[in-house]
Amino acid sequence: MNDVALLFDFIRRSPSPWHAVRAAAEALEEAGFARLEERESWALAPGGKYYTVREGSSLIAWRQPAAPAAGWRIAAAHSDSPAFKVKGAAAKNGCTLLLTEGYGGMIRASWLDRPLGLAGRVLVRTDTGVESRLVAPDRDLAVMPHPAIHLDRAINDGHKYDPKADMQALFAPGEAAGGYEELLAAEAGCAAGDILGADMLLYCRQPGVTAGPAGELILCPRLDDLACAWATLRGFLEAPAADEGAVWCLFDSEEVGSGTRQGALGTFLPDVLAAAGEALGETEDQRRQAIAKSLALSADNGHAIHPNFASYADGDFPVRLGGGVVLKFNANQKYTTTGLTAALFRAVCEDAGVPVQTYYNRPDMPGGSTLGNLLGTRVPLPMADIGLPQLAMHSCVETAAASDVAALHKACAAWYAAKLTPAENGWAIG
Ligand code: ZN
Repeated sequence: MNDVALLFDFIRRSPSPWHAVRAAAEALEEAGFARLEERESWALAPGGKYYTVREGSSLIAWRQPAAPAAGWRIAAAHSDSPAFKVKGAAAKNGCTLLLTEGYGGMIRASWLDRPLGLAGRVLVRTDTGVESRLVAPDRDLAVMPHPAIHLDRAINDGHKYDPKADMQALFAPGEAAGGYEELLAAEAGCAAGDILGADMLLYCRQPGVTAGPAGELILCPRLDDLACAWATLRGFLEAPAADEGAVWCLFDSEEVGSGTRQGALGTFLPDVLAAAGEALGETEDQRRQAIAKSLALSADNGHAIHPNFASYADGDFPVRLGGGVVLKFNANQKYTTTGLTAALFRAVCEDAGVPVQTYYNRPDMPGGSTLGNLLGTRVPLPMADIGLPQLAMHSCVETAAASDVAALHKACAAWYAAKLTPAENGWAIG
């Protein structure tokens, strides 16, 4: 399979953050990584390959360094995308609705009139306690229908989509609210009464497709940020053995500010690095050296210039679809890229033959943010913010260029493989 087909497959298997973590875990297991539980003691061997999961929706995988103070090569992406959390079902106006609450900032209109699926985890009462079971029925289950234009003649005049009124999903004709619990129970293999909790999301069921005269475009849900999750994971898995350690992070909660125990603002990465260092017998002095020798990528998608809305871009630094990986800058450090980390990333990409594009927000617009600068408050890593250029970010279906997927994969692989060592007034390469 080519990169686009592999990415589509990863996204298809990742309808929720919990499923994204499971899809990543499967790839890691296949590559010989051993799963560790945070509640247990860890016996880590130099050069050993491990991963651990927090809250089921964030994952950190790493290769132990050969020795203390060797440093870490790191990349981080996020597992979550804007979606609708399901609160339950209710009978209303002759229909059964799934009651929703928005998760993150989606383009609401894009969610209407599409087949939607359900994915997440249910917590089941068992003989011995409570068990988490992942659920994602492989079929269309709900829809958020528009009102007819005949009934709302002003719908094209800037309709304001109200989460309470417009974004509740039609689940079934007729009033049978119990059908939702029964469906979850059937999927989880339990009785409806045994479900004590659930984290269920509505997600877009459209599979990834290529478009354009020669398939140059890709249209797919959740490209933000599963494209970066996939590409950084590929790069990590392809990394050659080295003295330094390698780390791959997949964080949940980015779309809601990262401030959860499993988010980039939590202690997940510092906890893993501390345990990894301790297993090496690393002293505090060596830990400081290790961080100073480390480099990180915060990988999250960036905005390409939109042909119909070009004025939203900083026209002096247009990012083109198909133009290569985006390197993101922000003077106020919403993006972590500095002159130094930019230079290192550009050097690595130049040597790998990967084109790099420069992104700035328009100076009078705040733009978005991502997990990198938040992660940097937890572990003070020299970092650069990169991503896949795309259109329609946070739409139900997002658009990007096929060639950029391959470029991103190549850049991430080169990043993990590059020999970069801090030197006087800079870094040595090679
Ligand atoms: Zn993102």
